[in-house]
Parts: sequence; structure tokens; C-alpha cells
Amino acid sequence: MKNVNLSDIKVLFDENEIRTKVKEIANKLNEYYKDEEVCIVCVLKGAVIFATDLVRELTMPLTMEFIRLSSYGHSTASSGKVNAVDIKLPDLTGKNVLIVEDIIDTGLTAKFLLDFIALNFKTKSTKFVSLLDKKCSRQADVEADYYCFEIDDKFVVGYGLDYDSKFRNLKFIGYADKSVIK
Ligand code: 5GP
Repeated sequence: MKNVNLSDIKVLFDENEIRTKVKEIANKLNEYYKDEEVCIVCVLKGAVIFATDLVRELTMPLTMEFIRLSSYGHSTASSGKVNAVDIKLPDLTGKNVLIVEDIIDTGLTAKFLLDFIALNFKTKSTKFVSLLDKKCSRQADVEADYYCFEIDDKFVVGYGLDYDSKFRNLKFIGYADKSVIK
């Protein structure tokens, strides 16, 4: 992978825009679930910052689970194969499940996870919330129930998302030109 510096990254959504959007989505979820208990399933590693900000805006009783999937390896394009690195979950039968993901790109990861949950548990409800939605890259027939921002075909970093394991700690969501990362 190429060496990318912070100076190569351009801001797409700043801290304030993200905070406002996360609150807006949380309000919709608070409205939808009211006081019903929800099990949050956070997809590591990318969604961890979004999930921790989101849950602090949620008002219903909730539990949190963390799973790890991978489809990118050390690349900026999906391998086309989803790898369940760690998908241990408690029994979700009868529960409201809210999957929290960083980005839906090809949609293969989201489809894999939704199919896995449908196959293994008879949930009360299963919803999907994503920080980002790259609708233009979709290969699987899947949509998020909620998302914060739609983006075009850019490789984004920051606010949990990485390039070569770096930049997860940026407070903003940014991108590097394709010529920089490829
Ligand atoms: P999908 O299976 O929808 O193609 O990809 C989902 C996963 O690919 C995401 O959870 C994320 O880890 C990774 N991914 C997709 N697009 C990007 C991107 O623009 N930047 C980063 N850092 N990761 C991405």
C-alpha cells in the first residue's frame, strides 16, 4: 500500500456535520423504537466510533454486541468475499436488532450479515444503520434502513474508517485522491 499522509486527505464531512447527522439519525431511531429494548450489533473495526457516538444519543434500553467481518484485507477494493473474523453473538431470537456499520459499498458485507442473522435467529426486528452509503458501488441487493451520508465512489477515511490501519482517529471523514492511494 502507498504511504498516505494526513496532508493528502481532504475533508468531506467535518466534525460538526457528523455530530448533527448522528443526532438526527438517533432521533429517528428514538422515535421508531420508543421504549423498546434494542440489541446493537456493531461491526468492528470501522463502525466503532460511529456506534459509540450514536448509542450515547439513544434513549431506549439497549445492549451492545461487537462482531468482526472483513472483505477488504489490505486493499482499497472489496475482495468480493466476506470473511467472518469473529461473529459470536448471543441468542437474538425475539429481540430488536440494530446493526451499526461504517459504510455500505458493494453491499456484500451487509447482505452476509443480514442473511446470517435471518438464518440463525427469529428476531423481533432487524434494522441496519450505516454511517455512509456508497450506492454507486452496489453489487448486492441491499439497502440501509438509515444512513447519515451518501457518498460517490471515493475511498474515505477517518471517524473510524482506515487506510492501512491508520486515520481511524480523525474527527472528520475525508478522502484521498485515487492517484494518492492506488
Ligand atoms: P462492502 O462489503 O459493502 O463492499 O464493504 C463493506 C466494508 O468495506 C466496510 O465495512 C469497510 O470496512 C470497507 N470499505 C468500503 N468502502 C470503504 C472506504 O471508502 N473506506 C474504507 N476505509 N473502508 C471501506
